Amino acid sequence: MVGKKGDVQCINDEILENLSLKNRYKFLNVNLMSILKPKHFNFLRESQKFYVKFEKKHNIDHSEDFYDWIPEIGEQGLITRVNKFEFLDLNFEPYGMTAEFMRTLATDFFDPQLAMGMGATVLAVNPLVLHHENVDIRLEVLKKLVTGEDIGCICITEPERGSDAVHMVTTCDEQSDGSYLLNGTKIYQTNGTKADWAVVYAVSEKNNGNTMGQFLIDTSWEGWNAERVNIPWTPRMHVGKEIFKDLRVPKEYILGPPGKGREHLFEGLNLERLGIVILNIAEAWNALSHAVIYANMRKQFDQEILKYQGVGFPLSDQWAKTMTMTLATLHICQFIDEKMEQFDGSLPKDLNLALGANAAQLKSQSAKLTERVCYECVNLMGGAGACDNTLMHDLLGISRIQEMGGGTRQIQQYIMSLGLRKIFKMI
Ligand SMILES: Cc1cc2nc3c(=O)[nH]c(=O)nc-3n(C[C@H](O)[C@H](O)[C@H](O)COP(=O)(O)OP(=O)(O)OC[C@H]3O[C@@H](n4cnc5c(N)ncnc54)[C@H](O)[C@@H]3O)c2cc1C
Repeated sequence: MVGKKGDVQCINDEILENLSLKNRYKFLNVNLMSILKPKHFNFLRESQKFYVKFEKKHNIDHSEDFYDWIPEIGEQGLITRVNKFEFLDLNFEPYGMTAEFMRTLATDFFDPQLAMGMGATVLAVNPLVLHHENVDIRLEVLKKLVTGEDIGCICITEPERGSDAVHMVTTCDEQSDGSYLLNGTKIYQTNGTKADWAVVYAVSEKNNGNTMGQFLIDTSWEGWNAERVNIPWTPRMHVGKEIFKDLRVPKEYILGPPGKGREHLFEGLNLERLGIVILNIAEAWNALSHAVIYANMRKQFDQEILKYQGVGFPLSDQWAKTMTMTLATLHICQFIDEKMEQFDGSLPKDLNLALGANAAQLKSQSAKLTERVCYECVNLMGGAGACDNTLMHDLLGISRIQEMGGGTRQIQQYIMSLGLRKIFKMI
């Protein structure tokens, strides 16, 4: 069989066969078929079909370097669905946040670490969509990222500036020919050592966020040096530490000059956080699909363990929480899709601002949810959840870092508390 099975088989043949990608997709589909519009449900199923065939064709056991798969996945139009990309002579249908939700669900069930790695390329895509200004090289790079030909990353965090990202110390100095020289160090960039292209933020005056610029970097340029950071919870994902030494950025690669970078950084945060929300929900469904199939088949004391309240009840709780979060997120995705259509493909500034609190609410709650659901599902599967025969171990690791990335739990709480103050002042 294809799919995970680990070095030593711990789960019996019958249950392992039933934990196939195809069956887990079926579990998801039964849950979603009545709440999705046909165009989104059909897209979900098409994407699933692709991954089932892909797994079989390459005899994948999910120990491989998933970066090698990205070009083929890109050809299928499954790197991002946030936009239609007509201006790149692509014509993705369906597209928008709801379609992105479907794409992520299908991808995560197939391979959670791949889904997260591809998500970081999308983070490099979004600023280029907003700031390509029809410059040839930017359009060319954008197309390569969207079609999976190239890999992207985004460089915000620094060794001494994590949550306090605005006060960065990586500098950008303007040269007489209009180019910039970048100097400094970034850390924890998803895809950092694999990326062909990076979107980098730097300031012309250290610790002054008002002087921030945004730059597109070709990682083959001299002055870009990346080394891999080991994150044991996501061992197949490449996370980097990058050192810039007089890294020269020509004029046409400046997405936002100093003074514009901070605005560019914040304008994309809501979509970035919603992307993480979707990923969190996909992980929770993925874990549930394993645990529900397993608990319906595994017998102890001559009964399927699901029939014991000690297993069936907590599993139902996690199912209910995951479905509730799914419904709330679908609502926001559909709302954004409607507004994007109404406003020609971009969200009006005031609406984007208003969504900040919702993005923080959903991000913080979904991160907590996925951590609990994945752990609880592992726990209810006993040794079968802890061993390496399924994707449960990947899910356990990945769900533990979701409160950190994209703004930590405390930063989301800070944003929400500011929102509460604002609302109070409106009363
Ligand atoms: C796997 C992974 C992938 C990542 N991918 C990327 C990426 O692609 N690009 C990128 O640029 N970055 C990335 N990051 C970095 C991530 O965004 C940062 O780790 C995060 O912003 C926190 O920064 P820090 O690690 O320096 O922690 P710190 O900011 O040092 O925080 C440490 C603790 O202090 C708390 N804290 C800090 N300030 C406050 C405050 N004012 N009030 C209350 N609590 C506070 C934090 O919440 C946290 O609990 C990634 C991180 C990980 C782990």
